[in-house]
Amino acid sequence: MSDCLFCKIVKGDIPSTKVYEDEWVYAFKDIQPEAPVHILIVPKVHLDSIAKASEKDVKLLGHIQLVAAEIARSEGLEEAGYRLVTNIGEDGGQTVQHLHYHLLGGRTLKWPPG
Ligand code: IMP
Repeated sequence: MSDCLFCKIVKGDIPSTKVYEDEWVYAFKDIQPEAPVHILIVPKVHLDSIAKASEKDVKLLGHIQLVAAEIARSEGLEEAGYRLVTNIGEDGGQTVQHLHYHLLGGRTLKWPPG
């Protein structure tokens, strides 16, 4: 989508601090980190949110989660733990309408989030 912020980041039209990239996925540091490690993991194809996903996206969604675990490992978070979360819609706190998973770690996270 031409006016989507994360599509522009994936294309390199807006700068980002890349953490990981493969054929399907791009991961970069959140611009306003809420934890010592705060990485956003996004599919390269545009999907508004998990609410808009369907059966054709199953492989991609599984891949994103395995990539998240791999990034967490490489960031040294595996032993202490971390959080992988995706916000959906207004009440869910989603501000960017391109599916993204927040990988948060490096401190003890509270539950439930606000
Ligand atoms: P959401 O609120 O779940 O939609 O998360 C959007 C996230 O994108 C927030 O944590 C923002 O800090 C982050 N964000 C917004 N613009 C940028 C950017 O240009 N680069 C990196 N992260 C961004």
